[in-house]
Amino acid sequence: MLNRLLRPNVRALTPYDAETTMGGIRLDANENPFPWPAGVAEKIAGGVEFNRYPDGKAAALREALAARLGLSGAEVLVGNGSDELIQMVLQAFGGPAQALLIPTPTFSMYGVAASVTDTPLLEVPLAAGGQALDLDNMLRLCRENPVSVIIACNPNNPTGALFPPEDITRLLRESEALVMVDEAYGEFAGAGASMLPYIREYHNLLILKTFSKAFGMAALRLGYLCARAEAVALLDRVRPTFNVNAFSQKAGLAALEFSAVYEEQIAVLTAETEKLYLGLKALPGVKVWPTRANFVLFQPREAARWGEALRERGFAVRVFGNLPVLGPCLRVSAGTPAENEAFLRAAAEIQASAPAHEF
Ligand SMILES: *Cc1c(COP(=O)(O)O)cnc(C)c1O
Repeated sequence: MLNRLLRPNVRALTPYDAETTMGGIRLDANENPFPWPAGVAEKIAGGVEFNRYPDGKAAALREALAARLGLSGAEVLVGNGSDELIQMVLQAFGGPAQALLIPTPTFSMYGVAASVTDTPLLEVPLAAGGQALDLDNMLRLCRENPVSVIIACNPNNPTGALFPPEDITRLLRESEALVMVDEAYGEFAGAGASMLPYIREYHNLLILKTFSKAFGMAALRLGYLCARAEAVALLDRVRPTFNVNAFSQKAGLAALEFSAVYEEQIAVLTAETEKLYLGLKALPGVKVWPTRANFVLFQPREAARWGEALRERGFAVRVFGNLPVLGPCLRVSAGTPAENEAFLRAAAEIQASAPAHEF
């Protein structure tokens, strides 16, 4: 009945079903598997006045982030997860008269945000077997359509590919769009991978970051965006007034004080990701994509059977039924060293028990 009253673009939507796995060995959501550094929880537990509204502008957290990144507080915006910031970017710069351009395959939330904001979505298949942006086709679509936002996830989820800064700067120079680089996995890609040093140079560059992955705070929903002050001020117009709760603001501040511990965890996870890559690559019949993030995309001959067999053994991994360009794939996140060893043993078993027609 109420369907008639809905905005037309919402009528066609189905709720995005992000599956949250409980129990077993969770290698499906690219989270940091380690417990919080000792002391972080103690730091944020006290001192929150739960009966009062939080600082809607999250001034202390923005200043602390800015100081760490060599920016000013006016060049940082925080969100209830970077998901909220993606939606805010399209609320401010999308809509039916513009378009969002993304490479594919990439993070599915961009398409979801395009749908709810009624923004037409243009997708350009990745080149080089999923490892490179097809810049010529992206820029051609920018000339032929009113593209106002381009999103490049870097390193890309789910492929793990890292696009070089020259590719991003070409989009920044040759399109008239905002170019948002989603660096959710940037901490794993090492020095020199981030576009942060380019912020002052390009007024149309937005950089998206999150506390959900390297900083182990997926449950708290805390993301941030860095850009020139003009872009931040425009985005601030659509920000819900109290979008980031007081607890998460404190957690972000505390995490910044413990960055040395997170650096160690990141180093371990990067080495563990390499182990997963090499272990999977050693299995006959399994195709593996090089990665600069904390996960590995791979393609056994029977992806669905593998997903099922892993699940039976207690492992949750992400199963993609049919990715654009690449086909059926699985994505495994780096867990603790013990979890990854167990995963590779299970993978070897599953590979060895392959029906004969897989070869
Ligand atoms: C996980 C992920 C995020 C993080 O989203 P949050 O809302 O901050 O938890 C953002 N972008 C990509 C590509 C991701 O994979």
